[in-house]
Amino acid sequence: MVTASQVKARASELGFDLCGIAPVESLPELGFLQTWIDRGYAGEMAYMARTADRRADVRAVLPGARSVVMLATVYNVDRPYSTERKASAEARIARYAWGDDYHDVVGARTEALRGWMAERGGPTFEGRAYVDTGPVQERVYAQHAGLGWIGKNTCLINGERGSWLFLSEIICTLDLPPDDASLDQCGSCTLCLEACPTGALPEPWVLDATRCLSYLTIELKGAVPESQREGVESHVFGCDICQDVCPWNDAAAQSADRAWWPRALFDQTSLLDLWQRPDAELRSAMKESAMTRAGVKRLRRNLAVALGNSGDPAAREALERAGPGSDPAEAAPSLDDPMVAEHVVWARRKLAP
Ligand code: SF4
Ligand code: SF4
Repeated sequence: MVTASQVKARASELGFDLCGIAPVESLPELGFLQTWIDRGYAGEMAYMARTADRRADVRAVLPGARSVVMLATVYNVDRPYSTERKASAEARIARYAWGDDYHDVVGARTEALRGWMAERGGPTFEGRAYVDTGPVQERVYAQHAGLGWIGKNTCLINGERGSWLFLSEIICTLDLPPDDASLDQCGSCTLCLEACPTGALPEPWVLDATRCLSYLTIELKGAVPESQREGVESHVFGCDICQDVCPWNDAAAQSADRAWWPRALFDQTSLLDLWQRPDAELRSAMKESAMTRAGVKRLRRNLAVALGNSGDPAAREALERAGPGSDPAEAAPSLDDPMVAEHVVWARRKLAP
């Protein structure tokens, strides 16, 4: 038989920074998801509505589930926060996407722990391992496993490590004793709500994804609505602002894991530099990183918007050179995409003298 302390010790050996056990029961916070979807906050993410029933309780995923082993991995590395950088000229990319794809790295470690548990759990053991992609409300279970509390910015915050955490979990049939749930420590702070540039946090603990830059620059497949393009500022993949300003991240833990270090092309790179790279180079730099989720076309679209917002005359020249049949277009077939082309036209107009 395997005990909770053995699971935690093994999790630590595998490289996880935090491990706790959440109970399998009807946790009150699990009910908020449907209300959030009903309010239209999920935008185009139809899969959220499709999987809402499954997400309502892990027993929909594994009927015999008795406990959830929650895991967290720090991905913060030694680079300044986006709020400390030259906002208009630098391509802002969310911290979690700088290095290797967490689905692969954390997924392999989570699967290794599940396999280790299966070997010791007896013939009736069943377990499902997920990293973000499973129909599981990870942050709710993480809070009930004592890993941290869900902040007003909707991220999981650990009092000692901060909020730069990848969450993963193993739903299992082992009856492991749950840890104490974490208590909210946001108090009267509202810094994240005030700092969000697009008003995507209309009230504490509520994220309107349709206004969030993570959604607009990553999830949204078509055109960025014109009314929201200025708000994109220089974000080309995701946004970290509501975590950057959180006081619990002032001295957040850092990881020594090379997997999370930024790839050279995405390490504090200027918008113009990224824009001038051929598609093949962007694709190669994005390979096996979380940025593949957006792909080159969406990155090019976002770069056009960000350049349009930069007010930089050099950006206007670069955009002018990127017409059909030009040298840049030859190296960057993504520029021929009508959706991308429309954003380039918008950016040129915005930068016109
Ligand atoms: S990620 Fe950015 S846009 Fe989204 S809620 Fe946080 S601050 Fe607002
Ligand atoms: S910025 Fe303040 S309110 Fe927002 S998550 Fe952090 S502590 Fe909570």
